[in-house]
Amino acid sequence: ALDGAQRRGVRFLVFDEENEGERRLQFGLGRDLPSAIESGQMRLYFQPKISMIDGNVTGVEALVRWQHPEHGLVFPDNFIPLAERSGAIEPLTRWVLDAALKQASAWSALGIDLEISVNVSALTLHNRDFPNTVRTMLANWSFPANRLTLEITESAFISDVLRATDTLTRLHELGVRISIDDFGTGYSSLAYIRRLPIDELKVDKSFVMHMQSEPDDSVIVRVLVQLGRSLGLNVVAEGVEDRETWYMLAALGCNCAQGYYMARPLDVPNFEKWLQSSAWGLAGRAVAQASLA
Ligand code: C2E
Ligand code: MG
Ligand code: MG
Ligand code: MG
Repeated sequence: ALDGAQRRGVRFLVFDEENEGERRLQFGLGRDLPSAIESGQMRLYFQPKISMIDGNVTGVEALVRWQHPEHGLVFPDNFIPLAERSGAIEPLTRWVLDAALKQASAWSALGIDLEISVNVSALTLHNRDFPNTVRTMLANWSFPANRLTLEITESAFISDVLRATDTLTRLHELGVRISIDDFGTGYSSLAYIRRLPIDELKVDKSFVMHMQSEPDDSVIVRVLVQLGRSLGLNVVAEGVEDRETWYMLAALGCNCAQGYYMARPLDVPNFEKWLQSSAWGLAGRAVAQASLA
């Protein structure tokens, strides 16, 4: 007969087996990531940021995906945490930055000047050389620093960002804009906006998505928008999925929005189609709209 511990052991075994597929996938992904970056399996998708003042696109956020030969298109939540643990986040961040600046430069050459936002894990800020990397890449692409925003996402500990104040200050001195992503959740904290040189707050989509049905969420969004605007920051609401939410945010004084209502993250051909055809796209902008045709 099994004693209690063995029985628990058996239960764990069964429980583990249920997750075996996922664990094996994660293990494989973690192992394959460095060579996948080198062999060109990473892709960038682009999601527009829309000004709530005039309803026009101001910039794009680059969001990475992994075009995996066996697993298809893998989303970042499935490999960014692994990359952070294995150290592969450094080459990944360099690849994303380079690819994003390359694409933004290509659009600029067509007369379409968009701001570009790149996500940077707070861990990357511990690398004291990171500001030099960014400066070199901006120079390589002759891209103006003030059109690049780094969205800082924190996945580990609050101390990660606060310990990186020097690095953030040096990035800010380059002219790069600093954004705090997923503001209001996890470890992102009010201490950040007191101590760090930031330009933008992104109100986490978990509050925005339900602000119509959840009065508490709409109170939180209102307070975060007021906080950011009172401090003179750009405030971006993420997760805007419908028109009612857009109008609620506009009434609260939010100045920038992102979400499926305007556009999902799109690959380059589809993003360019969206730019040409959407009412949020180039139609309202005085830039060379015909360039993409
Ligand atoms: P994030 O930077 O907060 O990006 C927003 C996420 O919300 C994206 O998921 C986007 O596709 C999704 N989203 C946008 N609008 C809506 C909406 O209206 N409704 C809903 N339900 N979702 C919306 P995605 O692309 O899967 O990225 C997830 C996270 O992975 C990002 O969150 C970011 O933290 C991280 N990430 C993405 N690319 C990179 C990267 O190049 N480097 C690093 N370090 N992290 C990245
Ligand atoms: Mg982001
Ligand atoms: Mg976010
Ligand atoms: Mg996020």
